[in-house]
Amino acid sequence: MSPAEIDEGTPVSVKIRERLKAARKRFNANDNIADFIEPGDLEKMLDEVTLKMQGVLDSLVIDTDNDHNTSDTARRVAKMYVNEVFNGRYVKGPSITEFPNAEHLNELMIVGPITVRSACSHHFCPVIGKIWIGVLPNERTNVIGLSKYARIAEWIMNRPQIQEEAVIQLADLIQEKTQPDGLAIVMEASHFCMAWRGVKDMDSKMINSVMRGAFLKDPNLRREFLSLIPR
Ligand SMILES: [Zn+2]
Repeated sequence: MSPAEIDEGTPVSVKIRERLKAARKRFNANDNIADFIEPGDLEKMLDEVTLKMQGVLDSLVIDTDNDHNTSDTARRVAKMYVNEVFNGRYVKGPSITEFPNAEHLNELMIVGPITVRSACSHHFCPVIGKIWIGVLPNERTNVIGLSKYARIAEWIMNRPQIQEEAVIQLADLIQEKTQPDGLAIVMEASHFCMAWRGVKDMDSKMINSVMRGAFLKDPNLRREFLSLIPR
């Protein structure tokens, strides 16, 4: 076989993995790997995941040949993973235009609730919840449009996530883009791996937060933020 033919037979996931390893980049479930994906790769990934998903259905002894409900399930699930719910791993982040803080805003600003949808890394079960973001700007802080917070959150959450890590990834990105004096994020979410399976508790929610800068140093600011978010 010629090298081109060998290359043709290599699964796209192996090629992407090799590029990541050569660059010594981490590729955990909640990492974005868009820089290592070449044009056309996602279509090939879709085919590869479809094939393997079909293998899962076969192993579960589901008659996809005769059961019309599941005849296209492998493809649907592959599309859902690659193009929708885990898309935040494969596409570059939303473009954010930052504006200088011309009005010299320096009062606590709260954005939320923003609805967030994700899946847990442990079971790939949905995680659905809300986040609130508190920003304390200074005169050098960049201002971004309100809708951009939701776009950034969606990109971070569209990956298999661990709630504690998701809020930190979100905080890091907002911190980097806007450089505020203080940043606070609270996330409250239902984890379907606790409702649908496991303990089957329908009501429990997980709440966690990150506090940075002024929110960490100033208990009054922290209290003000927490009292203003309607939970
Ligand atoms: Zn889980």
